[in-house]
Amino acid sequence: MFIPLANSEYRFRGFPISIRLRVSLLTVLLLILTGSVPARGLGADCKRPTPLPPSEAGQPRNLSGLKSQLVYYECSGAYSRDISRVIDTAIAYVTKRAKTGTKLALVLDIDETSLSNWDEMKANDLGLIKNGDCNVAVPDTPCGFEAWILEADAKPLDTLRLFKVAKQNHVAVFFITARVDENKNPEDKNQHKVRDATIKNLNRAGYSDWAELILKPANDTSTIQEFKAAKRKEITERGYTIIANVGDQYSDLKGGYAEHVYKLPNPFYFVP
Ligand SMILES: [Mg+2]
Repeated sequence: MFIPLANSEYRFRGFPISIRLRVSLLTVLLLILTGSVPARGLGADCKRPTPLPPSEAGQPRNLSGLKSQLVYYECSGAYSRDISRVIDTAIAYVTKRAKTGTKLALVLDIDETSLSNWDEMKANDLGLIKNGDCNVAVPDTPCGFEAWILEADAKPLDTLRLFKVAKQNHVAVFFITARVDENKNPEDKNQHKVRDATIKNLNRAGYSDWAELILKPANDTSTIQEFKAAKRKEITERGYTIIANVGDQYSDLKGGYAEHVYKLPNPFYFVP
C-alpha cells in the first residue's frame, strides 16, 4: 500500500514506511541466516557455522567445519530439543506401561544420557584429554576427563524428567554405565572414587533414590554392549521387567532385555 509522504526529502531517500519496514526485517533475517549476527535468543558466541568445504574424493571431511557444526548443534538448542523429543516419547510409554504390572524397571546410561559432559567437551574443543587438571571456568584451558568426572559437576540432561516420571509411577531406576568402578592403581587408597563421584554428581543433578548404580568392573574384559546386556539380564533374573532402556550409544541398547529402547542423539563421540 502506498502511503503519501509530505516530506519530499524523506520520499527521495527511499520507500514508503511499510515497504522500508519489510526491507529492514528481510535484511535482519538475511543477516541471521548467513550467520552475520546470532539468531534471536542465542548467546553472542553461538554463530551459525560456515558451510563445509566441498568433499574431496578419498579425503575425510574438514575437521574445523565439522566442529563448528557440532558446536552450533549444541548452542542453538537443537541438541536439547532432539533429546526432549525422545524423552517425551519415553515418558508417554512409561506412564502408560506403569499402570499394569509389578517390579517394573527403567535403565538409564549416564554420560550424554543422564548427565551432560558438554562443558568438558567444549573446553577440549571436542577432543578427549584423559589426564591432567580440569577447570572449565578458565577459558582456553584443557580439561582432563578423569578430573572432570571427580569434580562431579556435570549438569542433567532432560532425561531427569523421565527419571522423575518413573519414580512417580513406582518404576525402579537402574543406572548402568561403562565408567570403570575400581581404581586400577593399587596404591590409591580411594579405590571407588569414580563411583563416589558419580553418586555425588547424580544427586547434585537432581537424581535421587534410584534402585542401583552399576559401573563396569576394572577387570571386566567384555565389550560395553556385552557388559550392559549382561547386567540387564541380571536385573531381569531378579524379577524386574525392564520396560525402557535409554542411552546415547547403540552399545547401550543392543542385546535385549528391555521392552523398548530409546536412542538419544550424540554426534560428539562414538562408543562401540
Ligand atoms: Mg553414554
